[in-house]
Amino acid sequence: MRLLEHEAKQLLREYGLPVPDGKLVTSAGIECPLPFPCVVKVQIPIGGRGKAGGVRMVTSAQEYQRAATELLGSTIKGYRVDSLLVEAQLEIAQELYVAFAIDRDRQSAVLLAHKEGGVEIEAAQDFWRKPLRAAPEKKLVTELAAYFDVPKTAHDALLALLQRLWKVFIDDALLVEINPLVLTKDGALVCADAKVELDPSAVFRHPKWRFQTPDASAQFVVLNPKGTVASMANGAGLAMATMDAIAAAGAQPANFFDVGGGTSVEGMTKAFQRMSALPKVRAIVVNIFAGITRCDQVAQAIIAAKQSLPQLPPLFIRLSGTNEAEGKRLLAAHDIPLLPSLAACVDAAVQEVNDV
Ligand code: GDP
Ligand code: MN
Repeated sequence: MRLLEHEAKQLLREYGLPVPDGKLVTSAGIECPLPFPCVVKVQIPIGGRGKAGGVRMVTSAQEYQRAATELLGSTIKGYRVDSLLVEAQLEIAQELYVAFAIDRDRQSAVLLAHKEGGVEIEAAQDFWRKPLRAAPEKKLVTELAAYFDVPKTAHDALLALLQRLWKVFIDDALLVEINPLVLTKDGALVCADAKVELDPSAVFRHPKWRFQTPDASAQFVVLNPKGTVASMANGAGLAMATMDAIAAAGAQPANFFDVGGGTSVEGMTKAFQRMSALPKVRAIVVNIFAGITRCDQVAQAIIAAKQSLPQLPPLFIRLSGTNEAEGKRLLAAHDIPLLPSLAACVDAAVQEVNDV
């Protein structure tokens, strides 16, 4: 369960971590809530906002209004922007990268770091990494500080910061990533961006955490961010069989998505949004053999996705089972074609990918 930046930062604040002052804004046309200069950041559940124009530095009321009006309601990386985080602007001396993650191969936690953090991190290969079984200690952090090449005066702050961040991680997060961790011109360390992935099975232990949770019954997993064909099916077995069919036909499945019986139309529409946000996806296979899931609801989600997502790749749909007639009627009314079988959908999807 991925938190939005402002939610993640709220959590970090509760653990005593240094984050910039910030205010959440959901409508344009109101005064900037902070003194200038500040940073305006779209709140969407995906990184790379800076490169996509979703992080703006503003120095005047006029610039702020322009940014707020342009960004609110726009679509960035496939996500509709409905809130902005406005923060005090930092004066950056160095952008660093730190993360605590789970290394499943080694069955261990791992501290990852890079001295050139920031928007180019995707391209970095040479991460500093240390497996960890307990909170990072002074010796390790001194080593890291030397690698970072930060001034001696920042060493204690780095130690305190990593120990607190470790606590956030160990209290049921699967990933805590700070990129950039900023060393400011006056020598302070500040978490300028935060990505926190909570373990959905452990969130009940934290009744105080009231974060926006995605649809609980919608099981969406990105398997290959470079995959070319996305898919949606009802039931884990059918979802896996659908991915297998895509792979067997020579394309790369991008995701696993099981529309559980309780998934709302909104939950399905969100899944389409996530599929269309995957950069390499050129086709989507919808394979529904409905039992508890209802074809008419699937049809409604397809129609909503087509209307609200301009970058939605072509859909190849097989629909049968509960409320099939109503589902087909809805799709026909919107001129959305159906295919007779999974094989037909997969063939057409692979053809689509090869044609692009
Ligand atoms: P992301 O692109 O979604 O990861 O968004 P980030 O929050 O990481 O912001 C992207 C980039 O914007 C950062 O790497 C910084 O270079 C820049 N940035 C963000 N906040 C500030 C700030 O307060 N001051 C300055 N000078 N740059 C900032
Ligand atoms: Mn970032």
